[in-house]
Amino acid sequence: MTTYRDLGLEPIINACGTVTRLGGAPMPQAVLDAFRDAASEWVPLEQLQAAASRRIAEITGAEAGLVTAGSAAALTLGTAAILTGHNLGRMERLPQTDGFANEILIARDQRNGYDHAIRAAGATLVEVGFNEVVSNAGVRRTEAWEYEAAITPHTAGIAYVLSADSAPKLEAVVTIAQRHGLPVIVDAAGELPPRENLRRIPATGADLVAFSGGKAIRGPQSTGILCGRRDLISAAALQMLDMDDHYELWSPPESLIEHEHVPGIPRHGIGRGLKVSKEEIIALLTALDLFASGAYDAEIPRLRSYLETITAAVNDLPVVCGITKPSSPDRWPLLEISIDEKAAGRTAFEVCKALRAGSPSAYVSHGKLSAGILVVNPLCLDDFGTEKLAQRLCEELSPPT
Ligand SMILES: *Cc1c(COP(=O)(O)O)cnc(C)c1O
Repeated sequence: MTTYRDLGLEPIINACGTVTRLGGAPMPQAVLDAFRDAASEWVPLEQLQAAASRRIAEITGAEAGLVTAGSAAALTLGTAAILTGHNLGRMERLPQTDGFANEILIARDQRNGYDHAIRAAGATLVEVGFNEVVSNAGVRRTEAWEYEAAITPHTAGIAYVLSADSAPKLEAVVTIAQRHGLPVIVDAAGELPPRENLRRIPATGADLVAFSGGKAIRGPQSTGILCGRRDLISAAALQMLDMDDHYELWSPPESLIEHEHVPGIPRHGIGRGLKVSKEEIIALLTALDLFASGAYDAEIPRLRSYLETITAAVNDLPVVCGITKPSSPDRWPLLEISIDEKAAGRTAFEVCKALRAGSPSAYVSHGKLSAGILVVNPLCLDDFGTEKLAQRLCEELSPPT
């Protein structure tokens, strides 16, 4: 067995939560057990994905679903499905899209680094609207009519990045899309919890929704979910699954692949590089069951106690601590440590950097450094990590003597 230490790596204290850069969510024991057990037996992947589709459909209320290699992969596969439908010639040509509609509308203020995954399928993003609030030029954000005004014969669909603050509302965008027969694909990667969102977002009528499997669901870091319309999931599955079979022998379940649309087997599609293993699929489904059933709620008091321990430890230092009030009962709180930078003799940025460089190395959330605040997300902490983090914070925050 090889360990991180064998490779010269010292594991860090992760106080950032499920971020990809540090390796994602802590997988529960049941998920690890499911992964190990699934590794010693074999099943055809298309049958496993068809079973996963039924399970995802039950849990999300969508017609069908696919386990993908993360939410970004789900965006690429969903976009590919929107661009090609069941047209095998188009599947073969992606990401080349000459000769068919390839434009995806997106609100300008929803553009972000993950939309590279949409462009990777061959789509061209067409921006609509403005956020005049952030540019301090007015009070208006992107408005629903602006999507409608941008639709042309080249428009293939609409991409929507969901957050608590996204504007206009998803429902309003879905209404316009439906009026024009255009599909909407939603990036809801980080919108869990609340667990109600698993059903609430597909229930808006959005055609495809992408969730991360390696964030709050706590499946393998390299998993995600694409759920939505059965024909689009079928087209996405065709472009992801391995296609090395004879047509006469090929019999993927009808519930996953809509056979009547498929006159032959496409070659490996644009999603072939985004494959998911049988173990990852079983582990993700195990985690999804746990998440959807509310099994993780029992851990919230323990996570809160870590934040209280750290608060007590740094009490005498030049900081003000505040434990946040979660926006839903199945979310865990965070600790915001606001540094008196003058009294501490260091900026939050310098403290964050010193925590990373120290031993053991500790990573705290860095989203509010410019406001002088370190954020502690307790999800990946344990008793030992909490104690070490409190100790490291005390070392780095003690005023110079
Ligand atoms: C995390 C995230 C993604 C990527 O999800 P993966 O599962 O890591 O591929 C995409 N979009 C948003 C908004 C995210 O927060």
